Amino acid sequence: ALLDTLDMVFLGTIGLGTIAWFARRQIAEKIFGSKEQDANEKLNGNGTTAPKRERNFVKVMQEQGRKVIFFYGSQTGTAEDYASRLAKECQQKYGVNCMTADIEVYDLQYLDTVPEDCLVFFIMATYGEGEPTDNAVDFWELLMEEEPQFSENEELKNLRYVMFGLGNKTYEHYNEVARKMDQRFTQLGAQRIGERGEGDDDASLEEDFLAWQDNMWPVFCDALGVDETNTSNGPRQATFSVEELEGQGDMDQVYLGEIGEKPKEGARIIYDAKRPYNAPITSRDLFHNTDRHCLHIEVDVSDSNLTYQTGDHIAIWPTNNEDEVTRLASILGLSDKLDVPVMVKAIDSTASKKYPFPVPATYRSIFRHYLDICAPTSRQTLMSLVEYAPTEETKEVLRQLSKDKDEYRLKVGEAVRNLGEVLELVAGNQAKPGFFNTVPFDLIVESISRLQPRYYSISSSAKESPKKVAVTAVTLTYQPDPTPERTVYGVCTNYLWQLHAAANKVEDGQTYPTYDLAGPRNALQGTKVPVHIRRSQFKLPRNPNVPVIMVGPGTGVAPFRGFVRERAAQKAEGKPVGPTLLFFGCRNSEQDYLYKEEWPGLFETLGEESRMITAFSRETDKKVYVQHRLQENGKEVWELLQKNGTIFVCGDAKNMARDVNQTFVNFAIEFGGLTEEKAHDYVKNLRNSGRYQEDVW
Ligand code: FAD
Repeated sequence: ALLDTLDMVFLGTIGLGTIAWFARRQIAEKIFGSKEQDANEKLNGNGTTAPKRERNFVKVMQEQGRKVIFFYGSQTGTAEDYASRLAKECQQKYGVNCMTADIEVYDLQYLDTVPEDCLVFFIMATYGEGEPTDNAVDFWELLMEEEPQFSENEELKNLRYVMFGLGNKTYEHYNEVARKMDQRFTQLGAQRIGERGEGDDDASLEEDFLAWQDNMWPVFCDALGVDETNTSNGPRQATFSVEELEGQGDMDQVYLGEIGEKPKEGARIIYDAKRPYNAPITSRDLFHNTDRHCLHIEVDVSDSNLTYQTGDHIAIWPTNNEDEVTRLASILGLSDKLDVPVMVKAIDSTASKKYPFPVPATYRSIFRHYLDICAPTSRQTLMSLVEYAPTEETKEVLRQLSKDKDEYRLKVGEAVRNLGEVLELVAGNQAKPGFFNTVPFDLIVESISRLQPRYYSISSSAKESPKKVAVTAVTLTYQPDPTPERTVYGVCTNYLWQLHAAANKVEDGQTYPTYDLAGPRNALQGTKVPVHIRRSQFKLPRNPNVPVIMVGPGTGVAPFRGFVRERAAQKAEGKPVGPTLLFFGCRNSEQDYLYKEEWPGLFETLGEESRMITAFSRETDKKVYVQHRLQENGKEVWELLQKNGTIFVCGDAKNMARDVNQTFVNFAIEFGGLTEEKAHDYVKNLRNSGRYQEDVW
């Protein structure tokens, strides 16, 4: 029922300036419905429509006696988690009555009426190229208007606010949303309390968040005139209540891992982010080495209302592997109870989120489908576990792990140990089933984020293959640096690999984690996966005659397979198709050259102005990457740009996308005769006008 924010991993995509941004919003509203409607029509656990929600948050705060509100602008759930964590501390440590709120659920035109003795927190993620998250778009528009229409005033003189931004330094517009909001609030006369915090997801988000809080809470206390003595220094207060329902009620009503709302009887089902479609898939191996393999998957959406456009993303909802489900259940002493249904709901009846996931659900389905139990454990989670350690010795170990940043980094963060693994590590040679049965289940629900879908750039052309959506996914397994003896398995790609191996009876002699492939109530039997489609702005120019320069090493080539196939189909129909250059890179032409057999025919169709330029990094003494090949072909690329050409870059956000950007800056200097500063502006302008598009992750 209740996956009630559109929480999507969508870091890598594309802001084409304001126009595209508005377009995105309109598209999003078409697909997902308007936000107001959404806020008012959220379904409760039984699938019935909730009563209309009050949109004036100031009124809600006053009615409920709240002094502080924590708004979050969240795309993947992290900002939301952070807001909840802050709210908990606010309530428990300082005894201040507060609430958290999805920023789209309330109307922020009432910001001007927030009483002076209240505080408003903004925990805001930036995504793509400096854009607000989907749920923050309405507020962003309101705030950035030249003369914002607040409910009574044009300014925010009464408002006292606290700001923390979540961003990623890999992207050019680091934390732009928090920065711009902060600047705008100041212009409008609002008063910031404490320093603006900024977290870098590329390096140290959690540490940045914790460090910011060290300075923030004292200022917070000053601002509200409170201190730690306000708190009832008792045990932790739970956020969720957990009630076991064994032997009660109808098992048919229990969620066993179904995602999204139960459809109303007779209603036409619309498959989207809130209710994914269980799609049959077929797959083949694109390459298969001992250390990694890559799958080409075709997702059949012909029996659904799902459609896509070339360049869109498809979301796949993974299942956690059984080894980790068993591990966590065992150490928590829940192995015998895995099929017991439990009702989990927010204790605060006015909470904006009443249920953390569809409920009632069994412990098994919660571990298997709803919680991200494979993610590395946060330091904050370790801190909250201290008081529940079963022995003095383990209490001390947990305290040490959560306090000592380096120890945490080496044993948990960089070692990528999930909660089950950390608890085993802490228990040491005492580890046995139920050793940590002292930990209440509500703390587990509170500490572990919800399992999120993974996004993939669609690698087919909608023109050629409208109902079979292709995915090109490389399986992620790695040995973390501090513990090279352990192998960590990417959640979604190993789930996909097992689906592939089972359907194609692959026996490669290697050991992998096992998965429940049949799904809840066998809903995924016959090799199906839950999917939904996400519109992107990563689109070929409308006019096929426009030259296109694509740079996509590794799986970054995925959307370009769709692009090249689309242009070849247009050419075959007799349309004039402009030059099409594809820069592709991989390790070795024999091992991981994706779709090697397809390209020659496609480029032959496209004609002599079009070609593929390859970089095989491990075939020469000096490593050659796509950006080197781009540089070598600089003159030709520059000429295509002068003919209105469009650049597309897809794949690794960290290094490749940055280097490619710099290569284009170099072209503007070398061939355009611009100064370095002007060259940067030139590339920026290309981006703003939609002629330099990125789909990076
Ligand atoms: P997870 O369990 O989610 O693990 C991934 C995590 O592991 C990451 O947080 C990463 O930081 C961490 N990690 C990885 N290696 C290490 C290491 N050595 N040490 C420590 N930590 C490590 N992928 C494709 O294969 N093809 C695509 O076409 C594609 N398109 C995408 C498009 C978009 C818009 C986005 C956002 C992502 C795309 N991805 C694509 C990536 C994809 O969504 C998944 O992230 C990827 O498949 C891994 O998912 P997983 O569940 O297997 O791994």
